[in-house]
Amino acid sequence: MIETKPCPFCGAEHQGRSESSGYFVYCPTCHARGPVMSSMTAAAAAWNAVWEKTRDDPGELEAYRTRIRQAFVDSIRNSGDDEADDPASSG
Ligand SMILES: [Zn+2]
Repeated sequence: MIETKPCPFCGAEHQGRSESSGYFVYCPTCHARGPVMSSMTAAAAAWNAVWEKTRDDPGELEAYRTRIRQAFVDSIRNSGDDEADDPASSG
């Protein structure tokens, strides 16, 4: 299993991995999502690619952030179900 880089958006070190509807890596802290891929290995690699790409390029980071936000808005529209999700407070 590929190790995932820290979240490009909030710096959180630990990411979640979802296999429910395609494979993708997500950040439980800020809810950022990596690209949906056909395997978890590819999803982790894609997440790391975002980390590398945005690390030196704030413009790229902002563009990716906008895409994630749009995808999130779309998913809410599609579900129509408002679900409260408390941020994990692990300590
Ligand atoms: Zn994050």
